[in-house]
Amino acid sequence: MRTFPIFVSFDRKPPLVVGGGHLAAIKTRLLLKRAQRVDIAAEELGLELSKLAEVGKVVRQPAEPRVDQIQGRPLVISATEDDREDERVAEIAHALGVPVNVPDRPPLCTAALPAIVDRGEVTVAIGTSAAAPVLAQRLRTWLEHELHPRLGELAKFAGSFRERVAAALPEGPGRRHFWEAVFGGPAADAVLHGDEDAARRLIDLEIARAASEHERESVAPRGRVILVGAGPGDPDLLTMKAIRALKAADVVFYDKLVGQGVLELARREAKLISVGKAKGAHSVPQTEINDLLVAHAKAGKTVVRLKGGDPFIFGRGGEELDALRAAAIPIDVVPGITAGAAASASLQVPLTHRDVSHSVTFVSGHEAGGVAPSFEHLDLRALASGNNTLVVYMGVTTSAVIARRLLDAGFREGLPVIAVENASRPDERRLATTISTLANDPERLGLSSPAVLVFGEVAGLPAAGDIETVLAQEEVVRAYA
Ligand code: SAH
Repeated sequence: MRTFPIFVSFDRKPPLVVGGGHLAAIKTRLLLKRAQRVDIAAEELGLELSKLAEVGKVVRQPAEPRVDQIQGRPLVISATEDDREDERVAEIAHALGVPVNVPDRPPLCTAALPAIVDRGEVTVAIGTSAAAPVLAQRLRTWLEHELHPRLGELAKFAGSFRERVAAALPEGPGRRHFWEAVFGGPAADAVLHGDEDAARRLIDLEIARAASEHERESVAPRGRVILVGAGPGDPDLLTMKAIRALKAADVVFYDKLVGQGVLELARREAKLISVGKAKGAHSVPQTEINDLLVAHAKAGKTVVRLKGGDPFIFGRGGEELDALRAAAIPIDVVPGITAGAAASASLQVPLTHRDVSHSVTFVSGHEAGGVAPSFEHLDLRALASGNNTLVVYMGVTTSAVIARRLLDAGFREGLPVIAVENASRPDERRLATTISTLANDPERLGLSSPAVLVFGEVAGLPAAGDIETVLAQEEVVRAYA
């Protein structure tokens, strides 16, 4: 049973539980978390339900309810522990379109009862489409620990300021930023610590500040751009700041290498725009991206520019920065985990190592204009000494030329190389080879983008997980001679 979560009100009419025994009592207890009163259709009530009836929480109705008893109910739970009777009740509810739940009989249900984390005004409902109730309970326990016990008070407190805030700040990014600042700031802390007087003073100040800022901005509305590193693909590798930026975005401009799981974290109302730059297919030219960022920020939007890995490593983040500065747009930069670091972590191969490598150089396998690199800017002979790790980005199609250049500069023939495709993604693939194989026989690797290549003695250290070893014919012969 696949379900869609909604929150149902019991204010107009109480829910109906059919059955007066133990199971019915458990379900009634759950409903009473929110219902003022629960109607119970049963011949007699068990002990717990009788007690609830005495205080008016439960009202007994005739057993074997008919259409007029079921019609208009926000929810019916049939817990008679009699299969035939449960089926009869469910059938009437189905015909009337009344949501019905029969414990442990998913085929009869049109509604599922979630596991609930109850914090007063704040309710978290967990559903597993009846597939794994125990998993739902585990999640509930975890959330019970994670969520502050006074979260409900915080929601109530915020609710009591809603009208004042709405009057001071018009609907839109300004108001949203205000609430974000409140929930992430000292006023919320004060509520959670039980000091509501202090919280009230703090929120008063915050309203005054936001209102005067709004007045200033309404003369010249100004958005901002957050350059955000999206990391190598796995959403677990995002920073908290990156997630916060995604939640605050009005519009997100993203690159091709940004993972789908990362995009799903953007605010639901945010506009997601791909400016994907796959190699060779520049869908949106860089100058146009710069213009788009400036235009949206000038229109008052919170713009997130989401770039794979780290925005300032081969990401042309510097050019966007220049354009935004020239237009005097406020900028924030959130670093991300660069592909080389992700590959190193996943292999459990350090890029520097006290005994093996004292420095690491990140290089691009393409120069501006898309040609294979000359590496003129690098002192390759110094790097060839063996104490350095070279991490090559965008080097899949030029890997043979690169390997040849390095050999010419004096890198040793057997120097280990590890290539990692799609680091941190489910389809990650790793290949170990040597620099001479790469130079002479690049096709053997069958490498595809995106991939980083790690050249250096560290690539010969033991790696974790599966790794394909690719040797050229003559090396295979030598290895087994
Ligand atoms: N700013 C990015 C790099 C952008 S250049 C960063 O810091 O990671 C694009 C290159 O990054 C690709 O050609 C590839 O070499 C590398 N890359 C990006 N994501 C990758 C991934 N998940 N696995 C391997 N390499 C990746």
